[in-house]
Amino acid sequence: MATQPLSPSGYKLGPLSAAERDRLAGRLSAEERRVLLDHGTEPPFCGGLLDNKQAGVYGCRLCGLPLFRSTAKFESGTGWPSFFEPFHPDHVRNIQDVSYGMVRTEIRCRRCDSHLGHVFPDGPPPSGQRYCLNSVAMEFFPAGSEPPRDGG
Ligand SMILES: [Zn+2]
Repeated sequence: MATQPLSPSGYKLGPLSAAERDRLAGRLSAEERRVLLDHGTEPPFCGGLLDNKQAGVYGCRLCGLPLFRSTAKFESGTGWPSFFEPFHPDHVRNIQDVSYGMVRTEIRCRRCDSHLGHVFPDGPPPSGQRYCLNSVAMEFFPAGSEPPRDGG
């Protein structure tokens, strides 16, 4: 098996094989599949992680790669969980999205390429970025419960 690149934080960044991705996708609910795999968006003010104030790490629902820290979460008023910076810049991939007649920047998991949400340049200082996430695209790991580093 080929050695995967590690992020500076020590996490494998993939890419996952098609078989591995299919195996992990088999654990998802219909709504999780719709968002992560089919680039869907959950309705605002419905996500289970919107009001979560616990300390911890938000990981990718599909592969568990850490995406955001609770310390970067802020109340944006949009109805979706919002963060001003990622866990590490290498853990998310930005892709220009021109669907629905808008120019937006889509964010995807660096390891498994799942759709997570979008990033907008109207966030709070110091980053000025607003990472707008779907709750169902993430899994919350309370402080002390580390996400698996190899995506198991
Ligand atoms: Zn992932």
